[in-house]
Amino acid sequence: DNSRRPDYLAGLNPEQAEAVETLDGPVLVLAGAGTGKTRVLTTRIAHILSTNRAFPSQILAVTFTNKAAREMKERIALLVGGAVEGMPWLGTFHSIGVKLLRRHSELVGLSSSFTILDTDDVVRLIKQLIQAEGLDDKRWPAKQFAGMIDTWKNKGLGPADIPEGDSRAFANGKGRELYAAYQNRLKTLNACDFGDLLLHPINMFRQNPDILKDYHQRFRYILVDEYQDTNTAQYMWLRLLAQRPKGELQNVCCVGDDDQSIYGWRGAEVDNILRFEKDFPGAKVIKLERNYRSTEHILGAAAHLIAHNEGRLGKTLFTDRSDPNDIKVQVHASWDSEEEARAIGEEIEQLQRSDSSGVRHNLNDMAILVRASFQMREFEDRFVTLGLNYRVVGGPRFYERLEIRDAMAYFRLVCQPADDLAFERIINTPKRGLGDTTVRALHDYARVRDIPMLAAAADIIETDEMKPKPRKALFDVVQSFRRWQGLLENTPHTELAEQILEESGYTDMWKNDKSAEAPGRLENLKELIRSMDSFESMRGFLEHVALVMDAEQNEDLDAVSIMTLHSAKGLEFDTVFLPGWEEGLFPHQRSLDESGRAGLEEERRLAYVGLTRAKRRCHIWFVSNRRIHGLWQSTIPSRFLDELPETHVEVAEMEQSYGGYGRGGYGQSRFDKADPFANSYSTPGWKRAQANKTDATRDNWGSRSGHAVERIGYGESGPKTRTIDGE
Ligand code: ATP
Ligand code: MG
Repeated sequence: DNSRRPDYLAGLNPEQAEAVETLDGPVLVLAGAGTGKTRVLTTRIAHILSTNRAFPSQILAVTFTNKAAREMKERIALLVGGAVEGMPWLGTFHSIGVKLLRRHSELVGLSSSFTILDTDDVVRLIKQLIQAEGLDDKRWPAKQFAGMIDTWKNKGLGPADIPEGDSRAFANGKGRELYAAYQNRLKTLNACDFGDLLLHPINMFRQNPDILKDYHQRFRYILVDEYQDTNTAQYMWLRLLAQRPKGELQNVCCVGDDDQSIYGWRGAEVDNILRFEKDFPGAKVIKLERNYRSTEHILGAAAHLIAHNEGRLGKTLFTDRSDPNDIKVQVHASWDSEEEARAIGEEIEQLQRSDSSGVRHNLNDMAILVRASFQMREFEDRFVTLGLNYRVVGGPRFYERLEIRDAMAYFRLVCQPADDLAFERIINTPKRGLGDTTVRALHDYARVRDIPMLAAAADIIETDEMKPKPRKALFDVVQSFRRWQGLLENTPHTELAEQILEESGYTDMWKNDKSAEAPGRLENLKELIRSMDSFESMRGFLEHVALVMDAEQNEDLDAVSIMTLHSAKGLEFDTVFLPGWEEGLFPHQRSLDESGRAGLEEERRLAYVGLTRAKRRCHIWFVSNRRIHGLWQSTIPSRFLDELPETHVEVAEMEQSYGGYGRGGYGQSRFDKADPFANSYSTPGWKRAQANKTDATRDNWGSRSGHAVERIGYGESGPKTRTIDGE
């Protein structure tokens, strides 16, 4: 009886409605990008609430980010027409974990005021333990062990569970012992790390069936978004809460898309999708096939690209959103990243004034999605020059990053020896044994004499106020700054900058760092040096950065979003810019080196995520030259360009670029003419690649009532069986 259906159900298609209204029993929604998975979850919660099936506090809903949780809550309120009182259990796995743990901390040996350690704290603590064991912490770096612990925790493994081989791999076979010692130490400190936010609740539930039972009664409905990126520990946690004794209903609903699994490097297990049907027998699996987000061109391009991956579940996608005015996905070439930023800036300003049909666009509807955070710098600089508002989403702005701030502090202090803030920032970074005591002494010395701290340091090393060791260290620092200051006038400033970071040990600090972020930080440092090139002097550069940093980051401002592809998951924009589609950058060399074929497939999923963020316009860019390690290098267009279908993609502005910039040597040749790199990748031009395509089974394009339809070979016979690591 459709006439009496509530408004929020009226707009759903039949499959979506089924996913929303099947409230009893397990439901898995497996569907491509933009098919309304998140909308289904939101509507489902609204439905539960407005039919009085549960109170807000009886719904457990997991989102991938805190921002997504806030948005979901706002949408629910809109759907049910009024503020939702509480939804205390709507959040990320981690935020829900903290909440559980605060309530039951005593059961895992903590008091409710426990602290959550950040990575730095964790590493410091592990280092102490390694040293206490009498081990050489250079040979057995604490960072590396912190990484191992994190991996174990993502897999749900406590010290007793880790495989013998893993234990042997570190500290002469003391891996397990150290892990146990670490856990004990945390307990003594009344602290836990991020992994514990999941592991502790898991253990608590396992050891206290009565408490678990309470939560079974409390959580009448459980919902999970972005299910494809759950790791093993999250899955164990979920299964404990969602699996009910025989005869009880398991009202769990997970939505996800295997093609958007992009956190494998952080332990996500796409196989959790396959486990679901096994662990929740009788689960209703619902597929959504209609995409509401993107034009046929964008969807067609994305679907065709992702069809190059092998390990996929079956899926069909189509859209009704086709309009003769829709533009194809545009591929643009630029000479280098500076020109790329300039061209994208122009395109944005053009859209802001009015597009080809005279429509003005808000900056809020546009996003630039980069593969690596160092790419942001060029855009931020350009937009500041243009006076174009932008915001960096899901991370700090380029110049706000830790490593950039550190490096800048060195440069500031060289140019401006009285900059005490800069001094304090770097005096013990990297670690030189000049800790709080030294800083306090210098502070006092400087204040009394009313001189800068660097000057105080130069004085104090001539006295016997300090112990020999820190005094020697301080002496070295003072000498270094004197030397760099002496070079300021006559050495090219980029060279000097590089020298400063090398000689201070700052670059080495990150080179020796075994954490997952370290390589990205080194990339950012290189980008920093690169960016100084267009300035006359180090001082000129510092002034520029001060201006960039002054630019507003106001939430309410109409602004272009800049973010990484990883943090763009789940979002959508009218216009999306995808710069840097070059081999080595995208797909990223590191993924290829570390994970081979699997790494490439994850990169491809990332490209799929990028393309499918766009509603109406998608612009891909690649440059012919990037500067790497201070040297210009010709780049090869990303293989992903070769994997885009000609029917939905066109090369934009190539001719214009070709003749227009007077730098010659690129343009059409990148794709179609002789190219020094042509033989180093299998498909020299994406147009030719199209013609050569032989793999018709995975690449089966058809038309169903005028819609683009993609079918994947083994779709009909159901998912391929894959071995699942047992727990
Ligand atoms: P992703 O995989 O990227 O997370 P998703 O499957 O979660 O995508 P949603 O973000 O829920 O998709 O929906 C995509 C867009 O389509 C949203 O703007 C949403 O409002 C719209 N949409 C979804 N279902 C419908 C519908 N039945 N009618 C109209 N618009 C819809
Ligand atoms: Mg979504």
